Amino acid sequence: MACFQCGAVQTDPVKGASPWARLVVKDEQVLICPQCQHANPDWKLLGDRCPYCASSRLSKVMGSVVCRGCGRDFERTPSF
Ligand SMILES: [Zn+2]
Ligand SMILES: [Zn+2]
Repeated sequence: MACFQCGAVQTDPVKGASPWARLVVKDEQVLICPQCQHANPDWKLLGDRCPYCASSRLSKVMGSVVCRGCGRDFERTPSF
């Protein structure tokens, strides 16, 4: 997968914590590279939010979005 902001491709094999962050944007799981995170300190605001707890820590699992903040899952994230 490539960075959804600048299109850079993730190169290094993932060992341990990757500096790349995962984000769900418009129901799509995307990656954002360290450079873009640095360039936009508010990058977390680019992603969808959990409708229950407003967390941006979402991941896409088997077609639904799962919130890692409260643990709930939902089919689609509402657009704010
Ligand atoms: Zn980038
Ligand atoms: Zn939540």
